[in-house]
Amino acid sequence: MSKKLKTETLLQHFAEDRSKNNGAVVPPIYQNSLFTFASWEDIDAAFDDRLNSFIYTRGKNPTVQIVEEKLAELAGGEKAQLFPSGMGAISAAIFSCLKSGDHVIAIKNIYGPANNFLNSYLKPKFGIDITYVSGDDPKQFEQEIRENTSLIYLESPSSVVFSLQDIKAVADLAKANGIKTIIDNTWATPLYQKPLAMGVDLEVHSCSKYIGGHSDIVAGVVIGNAELIDSISTHEMEWIGAKMAPMEAWLILRSLRTLTLRMERHQSNALKVASFLTNHSEVIKINYPGLPSFKQQELAQKQMTGYSGLMSFELRTKNLDQIKLFVNSLKLFSIGVSWGGHESLIYAPAISYLKELSPEQFEGMGISLGDMRISVGLENVDDLIEDLNQSLSLINS
Ligand SMILES: *Cc1c(COP(=O)(O)O)cnc(C)c1O
Repeated sequence: MSKKLKTETLLQHFAEDRSKNNGAVVPPIYQNSLFTFASWEDIDAAFDDRLNSFIYTRGKNPTVQIVEEKLAELAGGEKAQLFPSGMGAISAAIFSCLKSGDHVIAIKNIYGPANNFLNSYLKPKFGIDITYVSGDDPKQFEQEIRENTSLIYLESPSSVVFSLQDIKAVADLAKANGIKTIIDNTWATPLYQKPLAMGVDLEVHSCSKYIGGHSDIVAGVVIGNAELIDSISTHEMEWIGAKMAPMEAWLILRSLRTLTLRMERHQSNALKVASFLTNHSEVIKINYPGLPSFKQQELAQKQMTGYSGLMSFELRTKNLDQIKLFVNSLKLFSIGVSWGGHESLIYAPAISYLKELSPEQFEGMGISLGDMRISVGLENVDDLIEDLNQSLSLINS
């Protein structure tokens, strides 16, 4: 199809040719490891055009390809490469931009395992130097650029605190200095934020969150121009071997059918929950980019066209028993990691931090004992608010 399809339509039709599959409305799962050829000449020709030929599923598979083409179009990129997890996508993207001895500028509050990959793996093993900035001001990046800076790693909104970076300003700065940029765009989804159009080189997503949306798959994707993605496909993906399985790709395709509908509901539910929390006396702070009172709301409106359902808030009480009582008394918000699924979830960063640090130590890092992260799901929002309300009312501060 030559005419650009609008989002809702491309999610149903783009990259799909039903006439090839006996008219089946859902494409088949090509659950095969290899493809056979009629002759020596045919397989020989396929090897000469590896990127466009089905030879072996670690390289290319028809079910996976449909989803890659759809995601690339959705994000406004030329190509996409799927991975069996978000971390598979992130590590491959980072590897593709670095060689030993390089310098990286990263946001302080990036997803924990991405930070561990940089700081606990690439740094000691490959001599990669990393500078962290809060990212609120593009000048912070400019000040840290060195001769060997080869990558700026962004995540906007960032994990836990949901602070934003001015994506276009940072991408312009990076381009002017010959530096590659990667952004983790999982929170906003390819619907609500288009970093590639703002000049970012590679966009990564954990598809385990909203893109999957049903809490039944772990997956990831990298999207960018053809040159960068082809290079990742033939190097990091094929050689490290982190290949998306056909069944998982098929489940993502199922999920993409309803992405716009789900995100609209996550957003409207989250806005109502956030407004409720803002007005509650047991809550002293709320981090949600969709709220008019959000500290970077102007930048949010400039670079995002919508908001998802993940936010954090801080309880007034710092009494651990009271905090546990609040979390344990919720009936609809289940306690668990991850987010972006149909179900509402709650997680307290303190659960992880208290294993290594004292409350005083991690309060010193800007994280509070009373910080709560919630993923607002697709339930009826009045039920969700009632659940939060009954649990908050038990707190005796
Ligand atoms: C979950 C998550 C990831 C990692 O994705 P996996 O699919 O779990 O590997 C990366 N970035 C962000 C922001 C996440 O929340």
